[in-house]
Amino acid sequence: MDRPGAQVVEQEYGLFIGGASVPSASRASSSVLDPATSRPIARVPSATHDDVASAVDSARSAFENPAWRDLDPSKRGRLLWLLGQQIRDHFDELARLESQNVGKPIREARGDVAYVYKLFEYYAGMADKIQGATIPVPGARLDYTVREPLGVTAHIAPWNYPLLLASRGIAPALAAGNTVVLKPASLTPLTGLKLAELAMAAGFPPGVLNVITGPGREIGAGLVSHADVDAVTFTGSTDTGKQLLRMVADRVVPTTLELGGKNPQIVLADAKMDRAVPGALWGAYQNAGQMCWAGSKLLLHRDIASAFLAKLTNQIASMRIGAGIDDSTQMGPLISREHAATVQAAIDDGIERGAKPLAGGHPPDAPALREGNFLLPTLFEDPPEESRVAREEVFGPVLSAWSFADLDEAIERANDTRYGLSAGVWTQDVGKAHSIARRLKAGMVSVNEYPVTFPQTPFLGWKESGLGQEQGVDAIFFYTRVKNVLVNLE
Ligand code: NAD
Repeated sequence: MDRPGAQVVEQEYGLFIGGASVPSASRASSSVLDPATSRPIARVPSATHDDVASAVDSARSAFENPAWRDLDPSKRGRLLWLLGQQIRDHFDELARLESQNVGKPIREARGDVAYVYKLFEYYAGMADKIQGATIPVPGARLDYTVREPLGVTAHIAPWNYPLLLASRGIAPALAAGNTVVLKPASLTPLTGLKLAELAMAAGFPPGVLNVITGPGREIGAGLVSHADVDAVTFTGSTDTGKQLLRMVADRVVPTTLELGGKNPQIVLADAKMDRAVPGALWGAYQNAGQMCWAGSKLLLHRDIASAFLAKLTNQIASMRIGAGIDDSTQMGPLISREHAATVQAAIDDGIERGAKPLAGGHPPDAPALREGNFLLPTLFEDPPEESRVAREEVFGPVLSAWSFADLDEAIERANDTRYGLSAGVWTQDVGKAHSIARRLKAGMVSVNEYPVTFPQTPFLGWKESGLGQEQGVDAIFFYTRVKNVLVNLE
């Protein structure tokens, strides 16, 4: 297989604590694999509970240090801006690292990195706009509120958009004056470690951003349960999110959860086909479908359903599958062999229950792809309601399509899930678009484009898709707490 630039050296990484790269207390480490070849590309430390304690201590000392605590908020914003600049300066390196580690097409990885510097630049401007209020009270009194940082915030990130999803919480946390400990997913720790290095180069004081690597069940759990952690930002699966809520319950720690989804896309008969078909394709197979907001539940008006599926099947057939690092690749491998097997099991369950894939359903035949965790983009028409591909978040390149005659029926099917993350609507009828958007039970609805988000627009799930909100102006308030001050002036 032609894999330009694939000759990556197996680099040794350290934990990032107190402004420096350090080994784990146990000196143990594990390999990070390239999902396209299953070959090791790096070694990272397996942190211990002592390392967790050391990272939290380092963040606590940095939080109490006047160099950070008393820093003019405008200068704090300037540091975030400079970190954005560092990310711009290391754009290619970060994109290649992310593409190689996750397996995602390099063009998608470039999009992720561009999103990350925009996140830091967006929240840079907010650092000196976190303000309180004066509140009218009776008599000779002055009442005002201030918003103060929480302290040490813990961030647990998943493996599908490692740098982007870590930065989505870290940028507002730092803008508000907190200090951070990040635990990236154990499969994808590389860009998180690089981010900490770039933060030092941007001029953040040591200890403001720390990164520990290791298994979630031990190190992630150890971090969120640590007595000196003041808030938790978690992005990952709904099941882990629920466990985590139980872990923090005893300490009543503010927690934000961004979890899974089973997201509908509703296509009306008047939709522009030349936009909606690629929208369905991109919504289902971007990042090999490993997206919380994958539009994996396609609802097509019956007047257009067969023409739509014919066009979609054609476009799927022409997708180029390969290593993400290859510029021409449109869909890369899945993150790990185990995960590919789980996705294949969900596909097999659909087939066993009588659904016949219109496309895919198995790994590609190409010998060059055999060592990687590849699966073909898969499309089911009308799978049984009880099948896993119909109901569960498969988290792979699997799309299920149904046709509908009546809009109420489509909305009911769209909402018939424990999740409520995002939804797409395709129509040229503006009135209908707004009315459907109002009836969909999801935190995010997009019309005539899917999926789409910006640092300035809220990202949040309803129902079992989450708790709290990321992105936008409001997200920064999560990283502050209000203090009310009342002064008797008599
Ligand atoms: P996961 O829940 O297995 O892991 C997420 C993170 O939690 C990892 O860093 C992991 O090491 C850590 N972790 C695992 N067990 C833990 C524990 N007991 N205590 C503390 N930390 C623990 O999820 P994943 O497989 O990495 O990611 C896929 C999931 O993430 C999907 O369900 C997807 O929908 C969801 N996701 C949601 C969003 C969103 O914004 N809503 C974005 C991306 C991914």
